[in-house]
Amino acid sequence: MAELFIPPAQQLIDGEWTAARDSGELPVVDPATGRTIQTVARAGAGDVDDAVAAARRAFPGWAATSASERGRLLRRWSELIGEHVEELARLEARDVGKPLSGGRTNVFIAQGIVEYFAGAADKLTGVTLPTRTPDYLGYTLQEPYGVCAVIIPWNVPAVLTAANVAPALAAGNTVVLKPSEVAPLAPFALAELARRAGFPPGVLNVLAGIGADTGAALTSHPGVDHISFVGSTTTGRAIMRAAAENLVPVKLELGGKSPNVLFADADLDVAIPAIVGSITENAGQNCYAGSRLLVESSVAGEVVERVAELMKAVRIGPWDADLDMGPLVNEAQYRRVLGFLESAPAEGARLVTGGGPAAEGEGGGWFVEPSLFDGVDPRSRLSRQEVFGPVLAVQEFSGDRQALEMMNDTDFGLLACIWTGDVSRALRLAQQVRSGQVSVNQFADAGVIGFPFNMQRDSGFSRGGGYAAMREYTQEKAVAVRLLDRTPPR
Ligand code: NAD
Repeated sequence: MAELFIPPAQQLIDGEWTAARDSGELPVVDPATGRTIQTVARAGAGDVDDAVAAARRAFPGWAATSASERGRLLRRWSELIGEHVEELARLEARDVGKPLSGGRTNVFIAQGIVEYFAGAADKLTGVTLPTRTPDYLGYTLQEPYGVCAVIIPWNVPAVLTAANVAPALAAGNTVVLKPSEVAPLAPFALAELARRAGFPPGVLNVLAGIGADTGAALTSHPGVDHISFVGSTTTGRAIMRAAAENLVPVKLELGGKSPNVLFADADLDVAIPAIVGSITENAGQNCYAGSRLLVESSVAGEVVERVAELMKAVRIGPWDADLDMGPLVNEAQYRRVLGFLESAPAEGARLVTGGGPAAEGEGGGWFVEPSLFDGVDPRSRLSRQEVFGPVLAVQEFSGDRQALEMMNDTDFGLLACIWTGDVSRALRLAQQVRSGQVSVNQFADAGVIGFPFNMQRDSGFSRGGGYAAMREYTQEKAVAVRLLDRTPPR
């Protein structure tokens, strides 16, 4: 098994590792130390031209490749990911700063996603339509768009590469992937494995670069037919404006401010550790992080105390110590999170635990303490804005009606988690909450295969995740036929 190697200062275009046209480089930094661990090419507009041109050249052949063959290649890719789990996990963990086991989980998720779309590739079908008389035939074709630009953030790069690239390729598109400049290693490594799996040159191209520069050059490129963006709501708006110029469809997966809603009749022994995990996993740097805890007043005192105890027990350290939580990804993120920690008390919130830098960061690195604020004002920044750090805002409610009002009192609509022993209440709230995803008595979608990663409102609009992603990456053509009677007269 050949070792997985990402050549320094390179990018992957048209099946070849190359330097950027102007030899630009991007440092990749270990968040636990602030030290550079590797470089990748820093792509400029000319490199974007090259990548899009390669993807355009590859598109007709790839679209004409049988769907079963596309699926076979995806399956081979997923097998290679399985053979390189440890190397990929190390890259993902070190690049983002998460514990090694978290990196490993991400790689297994990525592998599962690629395997899922390997199976989906030849299941994509259109429909036949009813006709007024037997003299007509109507049907639809599902066709790939062409060249898909995929732009992803730094928090779960392996997962987001798989979740967007695999369905796009399965549906017959070619891809130019731009990972975040902050954490590009796992995406490059996954693309190298795709190359080894036998995907033709140009089908998957990867280049890294600064968003406002390389990312903007890609999203405004006239050779791009579809844009898939995962990242912040602010950047999502810029991407949509860019897409408007060339009139290309956009799929947006943006930020969140997801509530865990905890009723007094819930199983607290199950709920409380999961709620703490939902805001400390990946140091809270997840789009669906459970950053708001809405708790029924009658149990609020006990719950806040138990959550605080678990948060204090969270073990913090660098990726290779493989503890519970690593540092934040970089200094900008660190300053941003500290800003929230400083402003929350001034906005009336009561600090219960945490509240500042963690001691583990004294030798360098961007560690913060898991932090819990009680009595958070629903109009405060902490209640309304995405922190993207291990910071939990608690608010109390009484009764179902107020719980629903508070769940919906946000601009975002990503995930809502309902914890209760009353199944009717859970199902009623699941219908009424304005959110793309709902989970009941668990955080997120564990145990469900192909769960659609849906978004509403300021969290974006996307039907990614499950089989619906195949439709996101195809356009439908409708065909109407009149069946002429050419039977020669007798
Ligand atoms: P970001 O928006 O700053 O950057 C995301 C990507 O966009 C990066 O690759 C960046 O280089 C690029 N980019 C930035 N400006 C651009 C521009 N003008 N044109 C084109 N590309 C540009 O986000 P981030 O800080 O990397 O990631 C954190 C955000 O991602 C959070 O808001 C989080 O909620 C969100 N996120 C969402 C999901 C989801 O599925 N909804 C998943 C993970 C992360």
